[in-house]
Amino acid sequence: MEIFGNFAFFLAFAFGGIWGSFLNVCIYRIPAGQSIVYPPSRCPGCEKSIAWYDNIPILSWLYLKGKCRNCKTSISPQYPIIEALSAIMTLHVVTVFGFSWEALALICLGYSFIVMMVIDLYHYILPDVITLPGIIIGLLLAWLPQVGDPIATFNDSIMGVVVGGGGLWLFAWIFEKVTGKVGMGFGDVKLLAMVGAWLGWQALGFTIFFAALLGSIIGIAWITLLGRDRAKPIPFGPYLVLAAWIYIFIGEQVYDWYLNGIYSGF
Ligand SMILES: [Zn+2]
Repeated sequence: MEIFGNFAFFLAFAFGGIWGSFLNVCIYRIPAGQSIVYPPSRCPGCEKSIAWYDNIPILSWLYLKGKCRNCKTSISPQYPIIEALSAIMTLHVVTVFGFSWEALALICLGYSFIVMMVIDLYHYILPDVITLPGIIIGLLLAWLPQVGDPIATFNDSIMGVVVGGGGLWLFAWIFEKVTGKVGMGFGDVKLLAMVGAWLGWQALGFTIFFAALLGSIIGIAWITLLGRDRAKPIPFGPYLVLAAWIYIFIGEQVYDWYLNGIYSGF
């Protein structure tokens, strides 16, 4: 029984790695406006189709020492890193939520988060082809009685879309009118509507606050320690995604801790 249990966790890890390989395709092709299903993976150097045995998540890249088998073009370490991230994320979700509908929903959310995070880092966009269907799927999951906490209830999900989308859209619009600067992109607003749809309006305060906190810490470190060009914009999407993901695991505890802290002060 124990062995079977461990094997199931190994399968979750492998499943995550295989999906990670697909996430790499999405990261590369969505900003270029290409199909994510056809053609199958090819070497960026010689355009030869990659055989299944050279496309095994993480392992193939290590075995081929980061080079195409055919033309020896270097393959970015980003590929195995994304595969490993996806595998670890999938394993982590099933260790916390078991083999449940909630876990399956969160794994899908995690995959979309990984794709959006990397695309925003490179291209400063959060693609509508992910955020808009993401909002609809979040509402649908919230409506399904089989899928429970941490996926929002239907009412909290609707409120999440209204507050995350409408409220912040208005805020971003006013901010832009008043200051003449773009504070938060409208892609970020759609992402927040998606977060609200999946996790409920309660997640939004935590997500924005922690994203701003992480953004300042990492942004300052990036500029001072790694010498990033100050004039180059730093996308906000990756921090929103990271903060929303952290909320799933510790959000309620942080709210409890914060409120208890306030009330014990009286
Ligand atoms: Zn090649």
